[in-house]
Amino acid sequence: MLNLILFGPPGSGKGTQATKLAKQFGLVHISTGDLFRYEIGNNTPLGTEAKRYMDQGQLCPDTVTIGMLRAKVDRHPQAGGFIFDGFPRTVAQATALDRLLKGMGEEVNVLIALEVSEDEITARLLERGKTSGRPDDQDEDVIRKRFSVYQAETAPVYNHYAEFGKARRINGVGEIDNIFDRLTAEIEPLKQLS
Ligand code: AMP
Repeated sequence: MLNLILFGPPGSGKGTQATKLAKQFGLVHISTGDLFRYEIGNNTPLGTEAKRYMDQGQLCPDTVTIGMLRAKVDRHPQAGGFIFDGFPRTVAQATALDRLLKGMGEEVNVLIALEVSEDEITARLLERGKTSGRPDDQDEDVIRKRFSVYQAETAPVYNHYAEFGKARRINGVGEIDNIFDRLTAEIEPLKQLS
């Protein structure tokens, strides 16, 4: 199995690149943001709870998020590997993911962070908000809040994996295909090993 975490602030291009990488390497793409939006779209109790946090640019509670993630992984017993997009976003989530994979005799092979500045992200998300229909992309205050939550709560996840020599950073600015090439250059050697 090849298990990747695509990391980086909101608007760094994780979703776009994860979709392409999943196809290229035959992985199951799991975006917790998409899972929450699916619940919201179906008016489930989980969706109603998640929306309260999402609309304010806050993280949803760890227990809810981890439970949802675990259920999604369990639905893919035949997967050749996973690409996690927007998860883990806290060190507690990272620890839970490590434990979940360990129970399957697996591990996170690499975390790759897409580096993009706050100003670039704000501009990208406001642009995306014109067409994405996402309320959290349409308000600059909510975007700045998401970035500050990322710095405070999510950035430490990088060090959690760096301690095991499993974290990499790449430049997340440029053409989509060029960024994809930078990512595949990091992943290709791991594929040989897995
Ligand atoms: P995203 O689509 O990844 O930008 O996520 C949109 C929103 O969903 C975030 O701002 C959070 O409110 C919520 N969310 C998504 N993934 C997580 C997660 N792993 N932990 C907590 N909240 C999350």
